[in-house]
Amino acid sequence: MFRGVNDSFEQIRESVARLCADFPGEYWQAQDRDARYPAEFVQALMDTGYLAALIPEEYGGSGLDLKAACVVLETIHAAGGNGAACHAQMYTMGTLLRHGSNAQKQRWLPAIADGSLRLQAFGVTEPTSGTDTTRIATTAVPDGDGYVINGQKIWTSRAQYSDLMVLLARTAPRDAGSKPTDGLSVFLIDLREAVGKSVTITPIETMINHATTSVFFDNLRVDADSLIGDEGKGFRYILDGMNAERILIGAECIGDARYFVTRATEYAREREVFGRPIGQNQGVQFPIADAHIRTEAAALMVEKAAALFDAHEPCGAEANMAKLLASEASWAAADMCMQTFGGFAFAAEYDIERKFRETRLYRTAPVSTNLILSHVGTHVLGMPKSF
Ligand SMILES: Cc1cc2nc3c(=O)[nH]c(=O)nc-3n(C[C@H](O)[C@H](O)[C@H](O)COP(=O)(O)OP(=O)(O)OC[C@H]3O[C@@H](n4cnc5c(N)ncnc54)[C@H](O)[C@@H]3O)c2cc1C
Repeated sequence: MFRGVNDSFEQIRESVARLCADFPGEYWQAQDRDARYPAEFVQALMDTGYLAALIPEEYGGSGLDLKAACVVLETIHAAGGNGAACHAQMYTMGTLLRHGSNAQKQRWLPAIADGSLRLQAFGVTEPTSGTDTTRIATTAVPDGDGYVINGQKIWTSRAQYSDLMVLLARTAPRDAGSKPTDGLSVFLIDLREAVGKSVTITPIETMINHATTSVFFDNLRVDADSLIGDEGKGFRYILDGMNAERILIGAECIGDARYFVTRATEYAREREVFGRPIGQNQGVQFPIADAHIRTEAAALMVEKAAALFDAHEPCGAEANMAKLLASEASWAAADMCMQTFGGFAFAAEYDIERKFRETRLYRTAPVSTNLILSHVGTHVLGMPKSF
């Protein structure tokens, strides 16, 4: 049931909400409790074609824009679900779409679009380099007609449930180029043959159900056509994809925040203590109203960033600001909701504590609040860099 360019946002919202109704809180609680990958949900979403929203129709995708993709993820989160299980299938292919050769696009995109190949893994972060991506230590050394890759990635989410991985590695030392970002290259790695041989994936236990892992590369040989774009220019390529990622995750946060505001509002209307609904007390009512206001303001920035992205305008600053505002709004709404539900917020069956844990991630990943403040302070406002 592939959908296409003519879908209106309202149609998309309704159809995703209908799908989510088949995956209620009990489903997500069970995945969370058992640290299970929500394969049924991911498959159902894949079948709608919405995970291929950003792949052009000529490659078998839905040919929708980023705003539409935002509506999909926001709706999932507003319904209490978690798009993080598969959101990378939407945007990780952007590096390939924008910078891959025609042959690479013809080879990979149709299969990614129809879901027969999962591109869910994006390997950038490493244990020792932290946020300073220029210091990654994974290397890809030219060897014959290909490369040999060695190193370790951390927090590579969904790698166990992905056939392919977009990987950032060094093809030249950090001090060899004119900028520290020179010498980084992007590869599309086929994990299917490599895992268990030269690639080892180790799950990391975390406070949320996120299927995140460490990935070790031990003399992994890849063909030359695994390289996307030009050697040494990979940093610029992944930045493009990161804008889409930040905006889409901003949309997920808006969905979370609306979920918390809705749940808190309903509860505050119904729960009676001292002979009246708790929401009649301004001490309970005002934080809910405040969370609503902050959410709707952040949603405008997410929309603005998505519109710029869709118009192929520069949107780095807006994508970052959208992610920051939306993640702060969802975190504030989560805390407000915990407080509104009192003790019941801590009971797993209410879903509030699960969503509270899940939405907290986005103040840290895919880029932390401080790094966004630094980007805005230096790149947008022109103040000196601290590092
Ligand atoms: C569940 C989960 C899933 C993830 N999935 C992926 C994935 O799929 N692929 C991937 O590549 N990565 C992934 N990440 C990694 C994530 O993007 C990083 O954790 C995040 O960017 C922060 O990097 P770090 O953990 O190395 O923190 P660090 O860089 O060690 O920073 C620690 C803290 O110090 C602050 N800090 C550091 N330097 C400065 C400075 N100069 N000024 C001010 N503050 C500073 C940071 O803001 C942060 O708060 C994931 C992380 C998590 C937790």
